Amino acid sequence: MKSKFGVLPNGKEVYVFSLRNSNGIEVSAINYGGIITQISVPDAHGVSKNIVAGFSSLDDYQCDANYIGALVGRCANRINHASFELNSHMYQLSVNHGDIHHHGGICGFNSVYWEIQKKSTSEGKILELQYLSKDGEEGYPGNLHVTVLYILTENNEFIIRYRAISDKDTIVNLTQHSYFNLQGDFTKTIHSHLLKIPSNKFVAVDSHAIPTGEMEKVDGTPLDYRNTKEIGSAIGNQYQQIVNVGGGIDHSFVIDDNALQVLQLIDKNSGRQITVFTTEPGIHIYTGNFLQTHTDSAIEFTPYSAVAIETQHFPDSIHHPHFPSVVLRKNEEYTSETKYVFTSIK
Ligand code: BGC
Repeated sequence: MKSKFGVLPNGKEVYVFSLRNSNGIEVSAINYGGIITQISVPDAHGVSKNIVAGFSSLDDYQCDANYIGALVGRCANRINHASFELNSHMYQLSVNHGDIHHHGGICGFNSVYWEIQKKSTSEGKILELQYLSKDGEEGYPGNLHVTVLYILTENNEFIIRYRAISDKDTIVNLTQHSYFNLQGDFTKTIHSHLLKIPSNKFVAVDSHAIPTGEMEKVDGTPLDYRNTKEIGSAIGNQYQQIVNVGGGIDHSFVIDDNALQVLQLIDKNSGRQITVFTTEPGIHIYTGNFLQTHTDSAIEFTPYSAVAIETQHFPDSIHHPHFPSVVLRKNEEYTSETKYVFTSIK
């Protein structure tokens, strides 16, 4: 299924493509930003609701500053001073947040046109998204060919599989920026959602949300989600790490090498539940501390009305040699995979 969604200022037509499985799960995405506009999932009683924040118009997406539903790249999250050194060369990136480079820059992967093709394999129904990021785009070296697969299986899994290859050494850190509210009602906040993250450490940040380089233990902090608890228990806490990012969670949790699942999110009322698996070293949780829609938006989102679950390498990794590397060498393949499994509990 493919239907027209809107037209970009450059005349390119944007379509919405949908995948549906026989259990009633539906995922839709558009060419603009590879944005996921809906993930509809039945609750324990079979009632389907869209559990990701989304707009109904292309204009709203173009005005959006929250990266709602978008693919984020070439390098997700913050790069301090918007510059980095690679092979003894200093690269100056575009500056779009104070003096830093954030989520790929001024026109990152969230606001470019992706070619989308629909396919079907034994694994499931697939949207294949492709984009060529040109050498020098937003300051990054190398022509980078990016392919992202959105795969919906009959086992109620939604898999995101990323591949990229560059003709020069570069840096890459791709993620998906969907915001979830399992109630399917974005007028309600996510405080009461139950969260479990089996991580012993998180990446500590300064008051500009830039990593200090320390991996702090979650023990005794509000960021200890090793046992299931309400996500809202950390929100508003006076713990310095929470204060640093505006009063909620905006932190990368360090995934243990042997972790089988990296996150579980449950809404007790509807019974909807997501379990996340990833090949990435980190899972960045952003509770929408500054979530706010453009004044003309037909749909309104407010702080804490949804939570972004972003699997990725750690923020500003290029400046922290002890963090897993985001360097992609010429002609080597970048691969990454994240799987969301949807279930419901009575
Ligand atoms: C970042 C936040 C940022 C938000 C919207 C998240 O991924 O971690 O700091 O405010 O995206 O840009």
